Amino acid sequence: MTRYELTRLPLLKPFLKSRWPQFIITALALAGFLFAILAGFVGTPVGSHNFSIVFVWIAWWALLMLVAVPFFGRGWCSVCPLPAPGEWLQRGAILKPQGRGINLGKRWPNRLRNIWLQNLAFTLVALFSAVVLTQPRVTALVLAAFLFIALGTSLIFERRAFCRYLCPVGGFIGLYSQLAPVEVRVKDTSVCATHTTKTCYIGNADGYGCPWQVFPGGLAKNTYCGACLECLRTCPHDNVVLNLRPIIPPPMCPPPIIPPGTPGP
Ligand code: SF4
Ligand code: SF4
Repeated sequence: MTRYELTRLPLLKPFLKSRWPQFIITALALAGFLFAILAGFVGTPVGSHNFSIVFVWIAWWALLMLVAVPFFGRGWCSVCPLPAPGEWLQRGAILKPQGRGINLGKRWPNRLRNIWLQNLAFTLVALFSAVVLTQPRVTALVLAAFLFIALGTSLIFERRAFCRYLCPVGGFIGLYSQLAPVEVRVKDTSVCATHTTKTCYIGNADGYGCPWQVFPGGLAKNTYCGACLECLRTCPHDNVVLNLRPIIPPPMCPPPIIPPGTPGP
């Protein structure tokens, strides 16, 4: 199937490898979400006149559904502000790996390694959508709860357990991202097979091991790839690329190649 390697474009690869663009968008989005929480608690109770409702459920939701998900798949997840504060504390850094973070390093429980908690959270938000989408205080409470849970999850569990197993938005973005016209993949799986250290999974001085607990060399669909581009930074063999591709339905994806010892999805 025809693919165009976007990372071959001369200026794009250094741009994607730099953490600054991602950080700037994340920080702006975080400022917007924090202001939305504040506005929800102290602003007018009239939903259509309150920043929290207009910013979250009209501006952000429309951008997510009409632009981010159809054109970039999980691109939103790579700049999402909800897990950002927890991830910065977990890593003890905002940009490149340095120092020690705050994290108990627990493994997410095996029996919860599925999409049921995400589905439950999504169902709850959908069931109460008439209230959540119109009452600024409820929107502020929901946003604050997401931020708080994401922060706690990052401090207790390894990597991005919140995004992978709890975030209700992440669950359906993952489903639709399978049809996205962009993908992070490896160029040559045989290079991965002989690279025993698998720095894309464990991390190195240039970047973090895959926050989504995915082995990039085995990626066959976008569902659990958060498009964070860490593997583009950590692969010493320059074997990771960002592709533009035709929209493909999930059944045409080849099965993943998982190296021994790599945790499953
Ligand atoms: S670091 Fe690069 S070459 Fe090594 S396993 Fe990961 S993607 Fe493959
Ligand atoms: S596979 Fe690469 S781009 Fe995808 S989540 Fe893992 S490190 Fe990020």
